Amino acid sequence: MSKTPNSDFSIGTRITQIGRDPAKQAGFVNAAIYRGSTVIFPTVSDIEHNRAEFNYGTMGTPTIANLENAWSELAGAAGTVLSPSGLGAIALALLTTLKAGDHLLMPDSVYKPTRLFCAGMLRKIGVETTYYDPLIGADIKTLFRPNTSTLFLESPGSQSFEIQDIPTMTALAKKQGIATIIDNTWATPVFFRAHEHGCDLSVEAGTKYLGGHSDLLMGMISANEAWWPKLRETYDLMAMLPGAEDCFLALRGLRTMYLRLKEAEKRGLEMARWLKSRPEVLKVLHPAFPDCPGHEFWKRDFTGSSGLFSIILQPEYTKAGVDNMLDNMSIFAMGYSWGGFESLVIPFNCAEYRTVTQWQPGGRALRLQIGLEDMDELKADLEQGFQRLTQGV
Ligand SMILES: *Cc1c(COP(=O)(O)O)cnc(C)c1O
Repeated sequence: MSKTPNSDFSIGTRITQIGRDPAKQAGFVNAAIYRGSTVIFPTVSDIEHNRAEFNYGTMGTPTIANLENAWSELAGAAGTVLSPSGLGAIALALLTTLKAGDHLLMPDSVYKPTRLFCAGMLRKIGVETTYYDPLIGADIKTLFRPNTSTLFLESPGSQSFEIQDIPTMTALAKKQGIATIIDNTWATPVFFRAHEHGCDLSVEAGTKYLGGHSDLLMGMISANEAWWPKLRETYDLMAMLPGAEDCFLALRGLRTMYLRLKEAEKRGLEMARWLKSRPEVLKVLHPAFPDCPGHEFWKRDFTGSSGLFSIILQPEYTKAGVDNMLDNMSIFAMGYSWGGFESLVIPFNCAEYRTVTQWQPGGRALRLQIGLEDMDELKADLEQGFQRLTQGV
């Protein structure tokens, strides 16, 4: 990027400038989409000395570089590589820091497909995983072994929203030479500065708030100075890259990501407050609320909250009641991904897969993503749902 965005500007301004350069784009605001495998070298000497900005499609394109550079700037990272999905990004980050014979520490609240990668792939290549209580804090050091090479973090936890004491844990890991990887998908660099809080690698499912429209899959891994060469090397060895069209869509999503996140925060908080006042709701698991485990760390370390949170229903409601509620919603749809414009709800039960912590929230659990629909209509949809829930007891 020839035009360095002025880092004195706030994130809201910089996000409109990073990863594009009209002077190199025939004056157009946005960059062209480069598709390509072969790169042409004018002379033998150029081939022999590998004189090319890009020498082959697997090494990247200007379109990929624009997204990588923009994300590094946003995350405050030394460098970023992309992946065709968030899960692919997690796999690449783990394969960067781990080798056969190593020991890995994973929070029990981690995104479930990450668990499946540990059990199905890392075990096969001789990496042992130990799960830990996400609220363990400084006691994480009691789980360090001589061969522990990686401490994985995810904050808040998937579905259950425990906030981790990241600076304490990354500082302890650093002292032992243990690499730290965080899944920062919920907060994004807008609400949590992972590298400034000591994380070596930070993974983001761009599928969520970067894409923002439920129409693409994308992963990013950013690294600090110490880990950047290793991350880039691992990426180059694997050559698993997203397509040009998806990078273009991600860059387009980036321009409104700050605005959408601020709106998601406002709507999420309003809906969480409304739900907290409802008699059908036992607990609201939203990082900005004091009932959320680890709320004090959110308050200390984060600069905001996004639009995804969970609620626990009163204990008397049955599965039939919840099914009756969710099968007949008018606006809220059921689906796994989130960060798009549409409101979503899913039932979940962490007890089905946890191995070292108890999940006994006191009632049935729902995860909600608040989209951009009219707030009064969303509340009315939930209110009618609660009536069906009550009838189904
Ligand atoms: C969605 C998600 C992922 C995976 O992203 P995909 O692009 O769907 O593979 C990883 N981590 C978290 C926390 C997520 O929510």
